[in-house]
Amino acid sequence: MAAKLRCPICKKEVAFDDPNMPFCSDRCRAIDLGNWASEKYVIPGPEERAEHENDEDEPNEGARR
Ligand SMILES: [Zn+2]
Repeated sequence: MAAKLRCPICKKEVAFDDPNMPFCSDRCRAIDLGNWASEKYVIPGPEERAEHENDEDEPNEGARR
């Protein structure tokens, strides 16, 4: 089984014995780290919907004639 990884940055095949695994080179590793550091991968949080209906039914007691 000579499976090889692919560098997530440049898609180049990476040998399992490569010290830079899973990246093909130190450069690609740095690029990946840079991506994270610059927050390119934005993880959207759960949408919190504070949707409470403010249905205040005030009895109109002041309706006098
Ligand atoms: Zn690469």
